This record gives sequence, structure tokens and C-alpha cells, in this order.
Amino acid sequence: MIPVQGYDGKTVAVLGLGRSGRAAALALSEGGASPVVWDDGQAARDAAEADGFTLRDLTQPDAFAGVDRLIVSPGIPHLYPNPNPVIALAWAAGVPVDNDIGLFFQSYATDEWSGFNTIPKVIAVTGSNGKSTTSALIHHICEANGRASQLAGNIGRGVLDIDPAHDGEVVVLELSSYQTDLARSLTPDVAVLTNISPDHLDRHAGLGGYFAAKRRLFAEGGPDRAVIGVDEIEGQFLANQLSEGAADDRVIRISSGQKLETVGWTVFARKGFLSEYRKGRQVASIDLRSIQGLPGAHNHQNACAAYAACRTLGFSPKGIEAAMQSFGGLPHRSQVVGEKDGVRFVNDSKATNVDSAAKALQAFARVRWICGGLQKEGGLTGVLPHVGHVAKAYVIGREAEDFARQLIGVEAVVCTTMEAAVAAAAKDAQSGEVVLLAPACASFDQYDNFEQRGDDFMAQVRAVIGA
Ligand code: ADP
Repeated sequence: MIPVQGYDGKTVAVLGLGRSGRAAALALSEGGASPVVWDDGQAARDAAEADGFTLRDLTQPDAFAGVDRLIVSPGIPHLYPNPNPVIALAWAAGVPVDNDIGLFFQSYATDEWSGFNTIPKVIAVTGSNGKSTTSALIHHICEANGRASQLAGNIGRGVLDIDPAHDGEVVVLELSSYQTDLARSLTPDVAVLTNISPDHLDRHAGLGGYFAAKRRLFAEGGPDRAVIGVDEIEGQFLANQLSEGAADDRVIRISSGQKLETVGWTVFARKGFLSEYRKGRQVASIDLRSIQGLPGAHNHQNACAAYAACRTLGFSPKGIEAAMQSFGGLPHRSQVVGEKDGVRFVNDSKATNVDSAAKALQAFARVRWICGGLQKEGGLTGVLPHVGHVAKAYVIGREAEDFARQLIGVEAVVCTTMEAAVAAAAKDAQSGEVVLLAPACASFDQYDNFEQRGDDFMAQVRAVIGA
């Protein structure tokens, strides 16, 4: 645990008692503060009380008397579509609002560091897609190269739940737009933006607000190095804004598809090869096609981001390449479940929006596509240009019929359940094809979360192929 610094003897309110809220309350206590906690849900409050947390009804008008800060969990709207009423009360009482990420950056460095030979580093990864894969890959490369590393944030442990810093370690944080929007301190050594595509638009009042939230990671703390995906205009704008000129190597531009040879420091992937250029000269090249855990152009973008971040730590291209070879990939992201009669079954349940589903589809030559669920704002237009190689779509979810109707240009059958979809896709599939779960939708109409949906897919696949 990272004891929170700066609130000794103070009362700090914590709203939201999930993983990060509870970790924040414990870390505040450890640092000498008195946390008072609240959650809109009765069950979460009861569980917290049973575990010895002090409840305070933060919805009462006088709840913020004597309170120094309000710490809010990422799932709770802090601005759009409307601020949670507790947050509005904190504003009215003049109490600053922060989150666990802000507390972490304020508390991670300690006096002990004066005895360290190598100062610990924090690498923070944000972006619309590929955050988890990139973060896990950086963590893996660090460990494979003998550098102690901890993985936290949206993936792994809550940020305040990690162990106090070790000499020379690397903390890799996966940060969502909700987290970067609210944190009052954001001071990573290296900040990474993988890409930007529309997501969570209701929480940011549109793409501009969403980009502004992510941009804070680069603009607030001034990281030593910024690794920026420049395949969208937002990344191009940000890279340009952060750099002082073409030779400024504080900014590393990355791309999947573009050849970036002229500006400063670049890492890009084309036709399966990663290239690193510095000052107009090629420094290294890696054949990504042989790396099993990173299939497809989208994963090559993640590989570029992780490679660039690890190069800032001083690792050699060869050391990074060797580590990538042993990266197993993450569950529910292009995860190979099994193969029978030349048909591969791949679980990409994490493709919860159209952009990630489009990327997953592009990673394979001929696909039987299992899709559907709870649709997100903006409809399916983003994925339709990428269905040319889809032999058939097998649509699941409560809105399956409506979803199938929108799938213009591809034959679609309404299956509704995962069981029916896997059975039909497996029956139709020919050798050389991939049966791919990439729903392009949230899972909440039929499942608790995308993990449960992916587990269901894998169970059905195993039943069908007899694995
Ligand atoms: P995040 O943590 O940002 O959600 P993940 O690594 O968990 O990212 O991947 C989420 C989904 O997006 C998966 O379906 C995956 O196949 C897809 N994906 C992964 N990397 C990228 C990328 N660089 N661009 C687009 N889609 C991606």
C-alpha cells in the first residue's frame, strides 16, 4: 500500500466503495487521515461498515463540514451527463475533488528515495484502445529485462494498493479518461497515448471533452517523454503542441501504418515490421509477424507504444524483441481459445466498441463473426467498412434483430445466445477461417461484464471442439 501523504489529521471523504475507493480509504488511514466513506448502493455501504470503515451520509447538506477533500471513484460521473449530487455538494462547500490517481502521484515519492541508486519511474498509458495490452506489455518487457515493475490502475491492482517504491522499479499505470480528467496531480515520467476514437462520449459531452480529458496527462505534469500515437488528428495535434521542433526527442511519435522517418524520434509498424528512427536514421527493426501474443495491426500499434516507452528506459531493441516473443497476450483480447479442423476460435470479448471490433476483424483473413450486445452511441457505421472478409455474422444480445438489420453488406443470422452463435459458426466454418467473438458492444444486456461474456464464449467453444 502507498500511504497517502499530505492529509495527516485531516478528514477526507471517499465516494464510491469499489476496489479503488476502498483502497483509497485504507491508504488515507495509513497516511494519518480520517476517511469518511459513502456509496450510493446500500450493499456496498453495509460491506464497508462491516469491514470497519466509517460511513458518513455525504448526500446530507452539512456532510462536508470539516472535510478537506473528496475522493471520487472513476465510475461516478463528475461532470457529464450530470455531476453526482455528492460532488455538487462538495463544490458548493468549496471542498476540492480529487481521485486515487491524484493521491498516488502526490504520495509515491518518499524521503527514502534519497537512498536509492536508481529513481523509480512511472509510465502512464492512456488512449481509447490498447491501454491494457500496452501496459501489460511494458510491464512484461521490464520484468523480462530484469527491471522490477508493478502494474496498476485500470488493470491489475488499484494504484494505492501497490507496494511502496523499490530502488529502480518501474510502475506502469493504465489510466482511463475518467481518471485523467479528475486527478489533481498527474506527473508520470513517461506518458503514452495509444490512439483516440470516440468512446464514453456521454461522460465527456463529446469527442472534444474526451480528448481534453486524455490530454491532461501530457499537459498537467509535463512528462520527460511523451509517446504519442499519431494515426488520428488528435495525436498529431498533441505531438506538435508538445514538441519544440522536428529534432525534439522528448516526443516519440508512433504509428501503425504510416512511415514516419523525418521527425525526431519515431517508432512505426508497417507490413508486420516495427522500425525505430532517430534523427532521420533507422536505429532498429523487429519482425512482429512472428510474435504470437500480438496479432494484427492494432497490436502492432501497441507493440510500437510499448517499445518506445521501454526505449526511454534504456532497454536495447534486442532485449525488447526477446521479451515481446514471450508475451502471452491478455485474456479476452485476440485470445486464441482452440483450433479444430483448421478453424481457429478467438476470444476478443474486450472489443466493446466499434473501433476495437473493426481492429480485431482486420487481424484475420476470413472470419465468422460473433457480434452484438448493448450498442453504444454512434451505431455501427465505424465497423461496416471492415466486414468485407466476414463470411457471416452471428448476432447475439437482446437487441440482436436490430443489430443484424444494421449490418449492411454482410450476411447476418440472429442467434441471440452465445451457445447458439458458437454452434452455428462452428458448423458453418471452413478450414482456414477464424470464429471470432468481437461484439462491438457492451455486454450488460446479458452478462455482468466482458470477462463473463468471454468466459461463456470459451466454454461454448470448448464444448463444441471437445477441448
Ligand atoms: P483498453 O485497455 O484500452 O480497453 P485493451 O488492450 O484491453 O485496451 O484492448 C481492448 C480492445 O481493443 C480489444 O478488443 C483489442 O483487440 C482492441 N485493441 C487492442 N489494441 C488496440 C489498438 N491499438 N487499436 C484498436 N483496437 C485495439
